[in-house]
Amino acid sequence: MKFVNNVTELIGNTPLVKLNKVTAGIKCTVLAKVEYFNPGGSIKDRIAAKMVDDAEAKGLLKPGGTIVEPTSGNTGIGLALVAQQRGYRCIFVLPDKVAEDKRNTLVAYGAEIVVCPTAVAHEDPQSYYSVSDRLAREIPGAWKPDQYSNLNGPQSHYEATGPEIWADTDQKVTHVVIGVGTGGTISGTGRYLKEVSHGAVKVIGCDPAGSIYSNPEGVGKPYLVEGVGRGDDFLPEAYNASVVDTVIPVPDRQSFEMTRRLASEEGLLVGPSCGMAVVAALEVAKDLPEDAVVVVILPDGGRGYLAKVFNDNWMRSHGFMSALEGEKIEKLLELKGKKLPALIHVHPDDSVETAISICREFDVAVLPVLLAELPVRIGQVTGSVTEQDLVEKVSAGLAQLDDPVSKHLGPKPVIVGIGESIEVARDLLKTESALLVLSDGEPVGLITSHDVTDYLSK
Ligand code: PMP
Repeated sequence: MKFVNNVTELIGNTPLVKLNKVTAGIKCTVLAKVEYFNPGGSIKDRIAAKMVDDAEAKGLLKPGGTIVEPTSGNTGIGLALVAQQRGYRCIFVLPDKVAEDKRNTLVAYGAEIVVCPTAVAHEDPQSYYSVSDRLAREIPGAWKPDQYSNLNGPQSHYEATGPEIWADTDQKVTHVVIGVGTGGTISGTGRYLKEVSHGAVKVIGCDPAGSIYSNPEGVGKPYLVEGVGRGDDFLPEAYNASVVDTVIPVPDRQSFEMTRRLASEEGLLVGPSCGMAVVAALEVAKDLPEDAVVVVILPDGGRGYLAKVFNDNWMRSHGFMSALEGEKIEKLLELKGKKLPALIHVHPDDSVETAISICREFDVAVLPVLLAELPVRIGQVTGSVTEQDLVEKVSAGLAQLDDPVSKHLGPKPVIVGIGESIEVARDLLKTESALLVLSDGEPVGLITSHDVTDYLSK
């Protein structure tokens, strides 16, 4: 009989699939290592199994023990799967922005979840990092894997992912291209391939444009591709830069477009970090000779992203796709831009008085509140304030002129993509006082029904 003793024995040994359509014009072979074939659906099953093995060996995790980790995604699924097979309790601490589907998936695997507010600082006792630390301290027999500092993550790739690529390409691999999140995959796989090839294999990382791996001096800008990149200047211990030859930044738009092409042209329904890695792989492959073999790792499947990258409405509302018909919002912004600076805004520490005077100076009713200087990404818009609300609060004695606007923050403005038709904006403005216009995920303007009327009358 052919069977495995339990599902965790299916972790690893993922196949290489040749890319045929998106590689048009490329001479060398480009092979995708498809990690959604792991039982939990992602490459993270590998590190989960290895981290648990090591904790058991070191006596950190004993029968009846509890695994506590701040994770919402693939690592959680991998840990939950391994934990239930070995009889451990699993608690995941998540920020409240995590989508319901993702929470439900973890619960379905038998894990418990604790949801924490997103809008608090890392050090705040309520933040999901703090809560996971406290639970790990307080629950008897608890152990926290910490994928960012746990060197068993890269070790699992050194022991398995790297050797699989070497064996399956018959030692012909010349380049590997790997997205960098914690850095575990590239560090372990890269170190193995460098060693076994005596340095011949080129190890190329990629991250979303705005992340610090490809731009260590840059200020991290939030990007929309999930699971990869870093926005702050802290390099995880799992990342070993010495085995990485270069890191290629990939703009979100290109990552999303390639993710959709992989599904529709190559039959690979994969996540956005896979599209990102393939964009970088093609960049590497375009000048290589026929006998080169590029392996690109595709970390997870696309089912978890159906409401985002694979949803035309989401793509349009974030400014990654244009409507097929009608005059576009872009036109409206062009007209408006002749009279006003692009995105009139305030920051959380600006005073109520400043906000009111900006509204009056530029004759705008609503101001987005931004966490950084322009250009910003959608993740850096924390809310909005309106002139009317602030004036009313001040006159009722509910606000002081020198209060920071953060004390009187209203909701984040509803978004609309720059390529959407003006009709869509007009519909939304029946119920919204203003819309934040996004181009490639970046806020570029705020429009009101006044702007629409202005445009139509021209
Ligand atoms: N893609 C996805 C979808 C991921 O979840 C991760 C892990 N954060 C990565 C890529 C990057 O892998 P690593 O953490 O090993 O750098």
